[in-house]
Amino acid sequence: MTTDYEMVIGLEVHSELSTKTKIFCSCPTEFGGEPNTHCCPVCMAMPGALPVLNEKVIEYAVKAGLAMNCEIAENSKNDRKNYFYPDLPKSYQISQFDMPLCKKGKVEIQTEQGKKTIGITRIHIEEDAGKLNHSEFGGGSLVDLNRAGVPLIEIVSEPDMRSSKEAEEYLKKVKSILEYIEVSDCKMQEGSLRADVNVSVRKKGETKFGTRTEMKNMNSFRSIVRAIEYEANRQIEILEEGGKIEQETLRWDDVSGKTFSMRDKEDAQDYRYFPEPDLVPIHLSKEYIQQIKESLPEMPESRKERYIKDFGLPEYDSNILTSSKYLSILFEGAEKICKNAKAVSNWIMSDITRILNEKELEPENIPFKAEDLGNLVILIDKGTISSKIAKQVLEEMFENPKTPEEIIKEKGLIQISDEGQIKQVVEKILQANPQSIADYKAGRDRALGFLVGQAMKETKGKANPQMLNKMFLEKLKK
Ligand code: ADP
Ligand code: ZN
Ligand code: MG
Repeated sequence: MTTDYEMVIGLEVHSELSTKTKIFCSCPTEFGGEPNTHCCPVCMAMPGALPVLNEKVIEYAVKAGLAMNCEIAENSKNDRKNYFYPDLPKSYQISQFDMPLCKKGKVEIQTEQGKKTIGITRIHIEEDAGKLNHSEFGGGSLVDLNRAGVPLIEIVSEPDMRSSKEAEEYLKKVKSILEYIEVSDCKMQEGSLRADVNVSVRKKGETKFGTRTEMKNMNSFRSIVRAIEYEANRQIEILEEGGKIEQETLRWDDVSGKTFSMRDKEDAQDYRYFPEPDLVPIHLSKEYIQQIKESLPEMPESRKERYIKDFGLPEYDSNILTSSKYLSILFEGAEKICKNAKAVSNWIMSDITRILNEKELEPENIPFKAEDLGNLVILIDKGTISSKIAKQVLEEMFENPKTPEEIIKEKGLIQISDEGQIKQVVEKILQANPQSIADYKAGRDRALGFLVGQAMKETKGKANPQMLNKMFLEKLKK
């Protein structure tokens, strides 16, 4: 991207709420299942079937609104958004138009330049549509209505983000907040969290926004970043050639790494919104809103402060540990067991993060318990294993669900701290390396490191390194 331009990005995030039942009927919201088995006349849109609003949906949406610092509307309503699509059996979606449940919120993200506030325009409730399964054999498409009527919140941001990185940080923050307050499982691969990404570009210093394009239904951080970069560059190229950006809806193709037009403004839809006549308006009392406010769990910001104060952790550590509810639970659980906050933090920030990246896993996919990590740290602190061996044990903990103690026993990884055994190894290595002894005596200290390394190799990393060091020194100084 040439440096004369800046990106402007706004996100519409859709998140499926993890209520047990759907928004307007008592069918289960559970993901998957044989097609059309989680359905009833209401969510299949049979004539005469009437919706009844699920109170939990309001509770969860208000929770999300409060967690994102929104004003909660005491009076709101549902509206019909009319459009035709085969996965929408009623030919309208029940959503909210001009009176959303929550508005004027904000969330904070961390950027290279420090903290930045991203505005939340609104959060409203609506129902999800069904799903089309396109036949591989060219025999048409089959409709599965299991997802029809699953409750969603749509979180609309202000166009406040200025880079793909900021958009990524924002989405991560929203995901983490929704996880902390337990209103959505946020499984992106199952479509529980997905975003429409709006992008425009403008010359730096320009105060007016450029024309935006919108990429629909994105559900991976990596594709979102790639898509924003591609789309901004595409727009800049057009502008540089004297062209004009068309406001249009695009589809991002992950394989080719390009965007394609889905529909342009010409056929922009008129949704003919009107108040949903089959549902009563929503009135929330101040007490009800206050009650939900008091039920909110500790948010990442205050957790962060607590980690700095109570555990003496650096702000950097606290930021990472609280970035995900799952990391935070892992940290607190492990610390409770071993009482060594900094060691736990180091394991999470270095090796665990590295393994997650390598395996392309999210923190919620960590297969072992917080307790296991705590015990691993204890084993190192007690000298039962070296931290080098601990790395091997950790790798193993990701592979099979065993406790660190079990893995160490099974693989014979216990550290050698027996003086006699250490002595044997030291003598063997000294005998095999007369040149290193001579080097050391000639003042080349590095020879000691080499000898220790050889002894470690001999014991497959199991010898206690401090003891090795000490014993080699004793022998060399003789
Ligand atoms: P629609 O439903 O038509 O997409 P919304 O108002 O629901 O409209 O959403 C608009 C989204 O696009 C918001 O997230 C907003 O921040 C973003 N947006 C608006 N204008 C621009 C712009 N010029 N560049 C980038 N994003 C924009
Ligand atoms: Zn139903
Ligand atoms: Mg949109």
